[in-house]
Amino acid sequence: MLPSRLQQRDNDAACFSCPALSFTARLGENNVKFTWNQKKLNNSIHKIVVVGGGTAGWMTAAAISSMLPQESVSVTLVEAESIGIIGVGEATLPHIRHFNQTIGVDEAEFMRATSATFKLGIEFVNWARKGDAYIHPFGAFGPAGGDVAFHHYWRKLAHDPEIGPIGDYSLPIVAAYRARFAMPVEDFASVLSTYGYAYQFDATQYAPFLRRHAEQRGAKRVEGKVTSVSRQAESGNIQSITLENGDIIPGDLFVDCSGFRGLLIEEELETGYESWKEFLPCDRAIAVQCKGTGPLLPYTTATAESAGWRWRIPLQHRVGNGHVYSGEFMSDDQAERILLENLESEPLTDTLKLRFNTGKRRKAWNSNCVAIGLSGGFLEPLESTAIYLIQTAVTNLVELLPETLDCDAERNEFNRIIDNEFIRVRDFLILHYHATERTDSDFWNYVRTMPIPDSLAEKIELFKARGRVSKYRQGLFLEPSWLAVYLGQRVLPDAYDQRVDLAPTDELRRLLLETKNEISRTADSMESHLDFINSYCRSAEKNPV
Ligand code: FAD
Repeated sequence: MLPSRLQQRDNDAACFSCPALSFTARLGENNVKFTWNQKKLNNSIHKIVVVGGGTAGWMTAAAISSMLPQESVSVTLVEAESIGIIGVGEATLPHIRHFNQTIGVDEAEFMRATSATFKLGIEFVNWARKGDAYIHPFGAFGPAGGDVAFHHYWRKLAHDPEIGPIGDYSLPIVAAYRARFAMPVEDFASVLSTYGYAYQFDATQYAPFLRRHAEQRGAKRVEGKVTSVSRQAESGNIQSITLENGDIIPGDLFVDCSGFRGLLIEEELETGYESWKEFLPCDRAIAVQCKGTGPLLPYTTATAESAGWRWRIPLQHRVGNGHVYSGEFMSDDQAERILLENLESEPLTDTLKLRFNTGKRRKAWNSNCVAIGLSGGFLEPLESTAIYLIQTAVTNLVELLPETLDCDAERNEFNRIIDNEFIRVRDFLILHYHATERTDSDFWNYVRTMPIPDSLAEKIELFKARGRVSKYRQGLFLEPSWLAVYLGQRVLPDAYDQRVDLAPTDELRRLLLETKNEISRTADSMESHLDFINSYCRSAEKNPV
């Protein structure tokens, strides 16, 4: 098949990987002999082909072109504008800053281009009980340091009304509720060093922004729809993809960023999918945009509804809204009505309806194909983890990129890391649903009583006993995140670490109140989020207020 396609072409021959030493193809009037160089015969990885130009595709292309020498690895990205991108995914986690810095993105320029705002955390409303609200902040509770975590001290005195909720001891939470923002500092003695931040941005603008970045660093973009895939008979490796116009794109390693369908990883390689719908039953979403009203908030809100939850993500020029729900427990019409009834202003767009299956591909890297983004799996958007998972996959691919395709060790390590990340995020998400007291709908009754994975059940048990948070070195969501969600979901420890009793109670109380006051004063001294945005990275789009 390849030689006949090649008859229409007169270039790119040197890039092919092929099991045969050489073959002859007809180019115009001439027969041309193609010979593979020794490196290609060694299965070397020089040409990476990325299929898909959404956030995953351009993050991959930007990372490879920025982080690897162009003379050894080239990147070609194929995308079909006629298919388009999913266009949602506006809330992120602080790790994205590291990604942008590593590939050399200027923060203010990126924020202007994507109409981004700062994000200090996620507010959860009505989760454990109707009327409850808490923020999962991007930062620590209380002062850093000490052998015993701060929440144990707080737990000892939590019954004292003056001590107040643990959120009073987190600067990102207090600042978020006051719509304020300041850049964190590196001086560990300052309370301004106790938090990080992420962004809320226009999901349709990040990929084009990264595209400019990647193309400047040598990535090549090809417009076209992939219609077929050709594989080596012996190894089963993908050797090229064919576009609708007949063009053939050969490659050594293929990165599937084609979205939910998984064009290469599933439709071609039939890798298989592990669904976690039994634990995370939400499988549909409706998205819509509206104009923002009120102060520009530096946080995302997730409000629980009777069969899922609604998001509110404030950007510079508008607010992104969505309703994530389970199709088994709520009809599409009802979900749409709830979303529209709760908008703060008239919708700016038609509603966008999406379906998904929470879970992951059985192998993220199969054969010579690596699935990154929605093609590799999707955990519903409650904690804004999808872009983080893309970042983890891309950076691990760059780190583990082998010289040749004889790379079982690298492939297995990559799959182990990705599986681990997905499982940890899965457990964290389940906690939000399972640790609830809500009994007001079939949905909440199901998630409250469903069996949960042992890995999560053990973590909850450990925390309930004495407030200990299970620790791991690799993976997302460390102690402050678990703590925020345990306490916010009303999972309260029965006891605290007994070393706390070594400190005199009066002294402890004084220190806690001092900490709380310092946090409050510092939050008041910060600029308003809107003013900060206006002076730092105001986009050409109009502000919502
Ligand atoms: P897509 O955007 O679908 O891109 C697929 C690409 O493949 C497109 O360029 C398309 O043209 C191309 N393609 C497909 N078939 C072909 C073909 N035959 N030939 C050529 N090209 C082809 N993530 C977050 O981090 N935060 C959030 O707040 C968040 N919210 C979300 C809310 C919802 C409801 C959903 C469903 C997802 C959300 N996500 C979020 C996830 C986020 O949207 C995605 O992870 C991210 O956009 C990456 O998508 P992608 O690039 O994998 O796929």
